[in-house]
Amino acid sequence: MTLPKELTRIAAGLHAWTPQISGTWGFANCLLVSSGHDAALIDTPYDEPMTRALISAAAPLLADGTRVSTIVNTHSNGDHTFGNRFFPGADIITTQSSADHLCNEPTPEQMHHLTTETAADQPLGWYMRRHFGRFEYDGDELLPPTRTFTGRHRFNVGMTEVELIEVGPAHTAGDLIVHFPEQRTVCTGDVVFLDDHPVHWQGPLAGVSKACETILSLDPETILPGHGPVVGPSEVRAYLDYLQELEGRIHAGHRAGRSAEATAAEILSSGFHGHLGLPERIIILTAVEYRHLNDDPTDPDLIALADQAARWAFEHNRDAPVPAPRQGAVLHP
Ligand SMILES: [Zn+2]
Repeated sequence: MTLPKELTRIAAGLHAWTPQISGTWGFANCLLVSSGHDAALIDTPYDEPMTRALISAAAPLLADGTRVSTIVNTHSNGDHTFGNRFFPGADIITTQSSADHLCNEPTPEQMHHLTTETAADQPLGWYMRRHFGRFEYDGDELLPPTRTFTGRHRFNVGMTEVELIEVGPAHTAGDLIVHFPEQRTVCTGDVVFLDDHPVHWQGPLAGVSKACETILSLDPETILPGHGPVVGPSEVRAYLDYLQELEGRIHAGHRAGRSAEATAAEILSSGFHGHLGLPERIIILTAVEYRHLNDDPTDPDLIALADQAARWAFEHNRDAPVPAPRQGAVLHP
């Protein structure tokens, strides 16, 4: 697997690790914050080889003897947290709500099972192998947060001021964004996806839109999404338009008395934002939005949602090649 061999400076003291791969799952962005002899990492990669690659890429940027003292997890999905265990002794900060909902996330053991022991000729087994089979979950254990907060939390990395702002429930129950006021930079976690259709497990979409409005209200120059290239505010505004358009389409289907499946099928067949990857995520987005429209109080079942998306992809996309990371790709042109 080809991964970025170097980090890209996006602002003073901020270097992004951007695997830059669209059309598949699990390649999240991370951000190294370094100042003097202190360093922090915003999110950790999905598995050991990716985390080792990130550690090697970060090493030249750290002053002698500097170690990552703080990890921030923007939310609890494994592609942002499973690498925590390679930073022993670091403070791991997330929202209280993310910590409370960790039990809803598939564990590394469950991911290993889903990618190796499910039926490869059935939609879920095929889909999990296709998009998650290249990651090494075997032997991984989750290192949970050591510190949680609600609302806002400020701290410093050396001289760099960091502000964590809770914006969930949106992508998950407990999302946060990371604001660097002096650098006019925001690290959004997965409330923002670019290049692919987003996936939002908790919702409602209005919550994701509100999170995007919070990002824009900080007047950032530079924005690092959870997945996709480093951008400016205009791309987040366009993404906000996408969310509101999709919300309108889903609500109209619900008002017309159509099932979530029928509404998602109608949106998919219309070619909605057809240049984006992973259209099957619309099925998850629609199912999650219907849960809110129907006042369903239960927690979403992530595997059941993935299974629904896998069925559509199995039918429509079975023979398409699996995207691979671009050689040495670090930043969008
Ligand atoms: Zn992610």
